[in-house]
Amino acid sequence: MARAKKMAPRDNGAPDYKKNLHPLMAKNYGKWSYHEKLRPGVLVHGAENGDRLYTVRAGSPRTLSVDKVRQICDIADKYCQGHLRFTSRANVEFLLANEADIDPLIKEVNETLGFPVGGTGHSISNIVHTQGWLHCNLPGTDAAGSVKALMDLLYEEFVTDDSLPARVKISASCCQINCGGQADISINLQHHHPPRIKPEGVGVCELPKVVAICPVAAIRPRQDETGKTTLEVVDEKCMYCGACHGQCPTMEIRDAKTDTLSIWLGGKTASTRKGPSFMRLAVWGLPNNTPRWPEVGAAVRKILDVYKQTGRPYERIGEWVDRIGWKRFFELTGFPFTKYHIDDSPLARSTFNTSSHVRL
Ligand code: SF4
Ligand code: SF4
Repeated sequence: MARAKKMAPRDNGAPDYKKNLHPLMAKNYGKWSYHEKLRPGVLVHGAENGDRLYTVRAGSPRTLSVDKVRQICDIADKYCQGHLRFTSRANVEFLLANEADIDPLIKEVNETLGFPVGGTGHSISNIVHTQGWLHCNLPGTDAAGSVKALMDLLYEEFVTDDSLPARVKISASCCQINCGGQADISINLQHHHPPRIKPEGVGVCELPKVVAICPVAAIRPRQDETGKTTLEVVDEKCMYCGACHGQCPTMEIRDAKTDTLSIWLGGKTASTRKGPSFMRLAVWGLPNNTPRWPEVGAAVRKILDVYKQTGRPYERIGEWVDRIGWKRFFELTGFPFTKYHIDDSPLARSTFNTSSHVRL
């Protein structure tokens, strides 16, 4: 026991969130009776005893400097009894006990941080993107940069909460491994050829792990002319996912000339109405056009405009496409239906209901 006392406290795993609750949240834990939208970006939660806790939501650029985090914390110390939280889409939420502090806080968030306030109700929430080049070794595009360009375009839909039929969540991923996850609108980079193996570099990789990581068993060991064990890829089996490149960087799959971006629709994890659903390919083959990706922005804008015109109140994007049908979707938006929209994998029988070639 004496030895155990000398050990440092555990600092791995999720911390006990109850230690970090705003005092009003801790006091009324399990006793909240209602919540309301006061205006775009501002919510109030009411407790059974009459306490009210206000939330101001602001869009952060996700990639934050230490100085910017300090500024955020200073504002939370001034108005929020030192309490704030980040949502899964990197919105920063300031929690306030006093209604009179809302306007001064929003002024500082706008002017000091330069962040817009919004993202609640029927708006576009902050766009979630993958870690990209900050931490990952296989991004085929700059997810953070493309999201910045897109959010500039969608600013009005962030700061208002009634311009869309329902909330719209957008994600951006810099490869098909898709760390950005399922979303109403998801932008994904796609490769179009198998990885190119550099024989001189493969020796540094753990070959059994590289063989094992391929989801379709397209990688197998091979002996070169000197008898040394190396790897080869069976091109016909490869689906260009890029998972092997993460395991063995010398299996290069990224290609500035051929990589393109695609847009997928209808993913959601909420169990409201029709339950969770996978996203499905809608737009294929957009150029990976840095630094502003104008073709991707124009395609997202087109989808949103048609959704605004023909979506019913509270209908999420996937539910809207299901109702009007994919044929009508392609007619209304003008995007081409291509062979790439057809799920022709050997496992397609189990995935027919998640591809866009059904209900045409
Ligand atoms: S989406 Fe792909 S490239 Fe981007 S961070 Fe995730 S694994 Fe890496
Ligand atoms: S890109 Fe994907 S499918 Fe192709 S060899 Fe690598 S892991 Fe296998």
